[in-house]
Amino acid sequence: MLYYELGDVVTLKKGHPCGENKWEISRTGADIKLKCLGCEREIWMTRMEFEKRVRKIKEGEKFVSIIHHHKEEKE
Ligand SMILES: [Zn+2]
Repeated sequence: MLYYELGDVVTLKKGHPCGENKWEISRTGADIKLKCLGCEREIWMTRMEFEKRVRKIKEGEKFVSIIHHHKEEKE
């Protein structure tokens, strides 16, 4: 089980065609909505697809591997 929530910034296995690879989670649920922080375009993907593609998540000023990210550490 991966921990992420609305407003978290993540990187994916593959970046957006605009060259950016930072995405803000703008909707969670069965489908996840991500906003590209380079060009502000939004994309949808299923939760399963998202969990397969997500690589890192922003914690404070740095990005850490999603598998080392736990909700408890944020609080
Ligand atoms: Zn983009």
